[in-house]
Amino acid sequence: MELFQRGSNVSIIADSSLPSSSKVAAGLINPVVFKRLLPSWRADELLPFLQQKYKTLETLLEEKFIHSISITKVIENQHELETWGKRAHAEDIRDFISEKITHTNPQGFKSVEVLGYGEVLQSGYLDTHLFLNAAARFFKEKGCFNDHEFSYQELQLTAKGAIYQEKEYDSVVFCEGFFVHRNPYFSFLPFKPVKGDVLTISIEGYQNKNVLNKNFFLLPLVDGAYKLGATYDWKNLNFEPGEEAKNDLLNRLKDYVSGEVKVLKHEAGVRPSSEDRRPIIGPHPHHPQLHVFNGLGTKGVMLAPFFAAQLAHHLLDGALIDQEVCIERFYHLKK
Ligand SMILES: Cc1cc2nc3c(=O)[nH]c(=O)nc-3n(C[C@H](O)[C@H](O)[C@H](O)COP(=O)(O)OP(=O)(O)OC[C@H]3O[C@@H](n4cnc5c(N)ncnc54)[C@H](O)[C@@H]3O)c2cc1C
Repeated sequence: MELFQRGSNVSIIADSSLPSSSKVAAGLINPVVFKRLLPSWRADELLPFLQQKYKTLETLLEEKFIHSISITKVIENQHELETWGKRAHAEDIRDFISEKITHTNPQGFKSVEVLGYGEVLQSGYLDTHLFLNAAARFFKEKGCFNDHEFSYQELQLTAKGAIYQEKEYDSVVFCEGFFVHRNPYFSFLPFKPVKGDVLTISIEGYQNKNVLNKNFFLLPLVDGAYKLGATYDWKNLNFEPGEEAKNDLLNRLKDYVSGEVKVLKHEAGVRPSSEDRRPIIGPHPHHPQLHVFNGLGTKGVMLAPFFAAQLAHHLLDGALIDQEVCIERFYHLKK
């Protein structure tokens, strides 16, 4: 989209029969790392950028997919409470958390141990399904969306660029998420993927217009259901919903809600995390016409707009890619 909006002639190849992490994601935008109550990486730059970007895309695609929603953190011990109080005034995070601790319990929430709720500011979520479907529809109408599996064997590199299925291109950008491990050009990169399961559930008697965060999150959906997530599994790297993960999520929730919980949907995806937990973006060390855009890990919704703009700026104007995300940091791994 970024390249298209800058006037490039793009061709998109995406196989809708392959699984996608984005379609499973809850799409949360959370600028806070709760563990140490710090802002998430570069949140101050990413947030204003993504707000503006997704709003522009809503207008272009004529769909509403970006939503503001508060995330409330359940505070259960004195240490957490004091840390929140202290950190709320710190310069690095005061724009992202409210100093006020609220005590209103969501309807249907068992709050026996709860000391209060801390509110995250500037949070929200992207309806990833709606967004991706709208974007695919848009590109199909433009005639540049091809629904098939990209065949690496059919890619021919030339002195100027590349030829794929008889068409010439200046550059190819691979945004394959977890499937980068199948890519003969970029599989040398150090990824550390992590599977995640997420449930769509109904909870009898529970009502909350905010996202609730404990050692799980509960995201309210427009139809009255909730998304319950998410697990982290570094071993079973597949897109199959797992029974163990489902039970784990339901067990985490069990102590907090008394109403009957019904599982309406169970999905799983593999987050394309990198070893150093930063995106990996830029040209192949030996083939400058091939680029990678990957490593979005757990934060695709926040990272993608900002770094897609950066890559487009690099491709079209030769602008530099931030060192922290640039693929160059891994060139030594390619023999
Ligand atoms: C359970 C779960 C919850 C999550 N929650 C959040 C959240 O709340 N907020 C957030 O920001 N992030 C979240 N994430 C992370 C988020 O999903 C990722 O950061 C993001 O989706 C990565 O996007 P991507 O485009 O790199 O990969 P993907 O979304 O997986 O897209 C890659 C696409 O490339 C296609 N593809 C690959 N190879 C080929 C080929 N050879 N030919 C054709 N097509 C190909 C795949 O089919 C896929 O559609 C979550 C992830 C999971 C699993």
